[in-house]
Amino acid sequence: MGKLSGKIAVITGGNSGIGLATAKLFAKEGATVVVTGRRQAELDAAVAEIGGNVVGVQGDVSNLADLDKLYAEVKTQFGRLDILFANAGISELSPLGAVTEEHFDKTFGINVKGLLFTVQKALPLLTDGASVILNSSVANTVGFEGFGVYAATKAAVRSFARTWTAELKARRIRVNVVSPGPIETPIFDKIGLSVEQKEAFAANISNQVPLGRFGHPDEIAQAVLFLASSDSSYVAGVDLYVDGGMVAV
Ligand code: NAD
Repeated sequence: MGKLSGKIAVITGGNSGIGLATAKLFAKEGATVVVTGRRQAELDAAVAEIGGNVVGVQGDVSNLADLDKLYAEVKTQFGRLDILFANAGISELSPLGAVTEEHFDKTFGINVKGLLFTVQKALPLLTDGASVILNSSVANTVGFEGFGVYAATKAAVRSFARTWTAELKARRIRVNVVSPGPIETPIFDKIGLSVEQKEAFAANISNQVPLGRFGHPDEIAQAVLFLASSDSSYVAGVDLYVDGGMVAV
């Protein structure tokens, strides 16, 4: 028996990086997994790669109609939801002096608005005792040059977990946060750095991690599995840093 046997799980942004690694682990542990992503071709490839009981639903988390479509599909196929990993997010570099309205709206639109409505619209389907995991970041605590807007979105995510833990207590729904440190995923190809800048950035960040390296997406997936499963049955409202010790020292 897997740790998630018989469970129905939704993972947003499940076609890449941390979401994909978590989808694979959830499927291996017996869950039926619904993954979302914006691009159909990448989603189809991820569904084939994940294996097990997996369904792909194309959609943008910042588009409320797409979220309605996602949960309509979950309702039709499964009638309920036991685990929600609100993982989809973007990170783009922009120092304070260069922040544009477009950068602000896009980052908050996906990372904050998208995440809020991902959870809100799941509420009618979530079972009593369900587990909701929100993907934040060490950036919710640490200041990194150029990532002010991103960091603010991740601090908002951490804040939501406190309020929603209080609001959903009557239904015993546990809301927790996972906050990764630097993890080797395609996100670093999208932040707007040249190859040389990316290498310097990566070396600089690794120096700030006591374990001295980037993490692997599988190392985040294991933490999300803990928060999703009954292994964490008395854990609610926490922010679990999986960061090689970065925030602790
Ligand atoms: P990634 O780029 O590999 O994956 C991001 C996923 O989110 C992709 O599947 C992408 O399609 C999806 N996504 C982005 N915008 C979306 C939208 N509008 N609608 C639907 N899906 C959307 O990067 P990742 O590193 O796996 O990032 C996953 C999460 O982890 C993000 O929330 C990110 O902020 C967080 N995180 C990552 C790191 C890291 O170092 N990689 C560190 C801390 C937090």
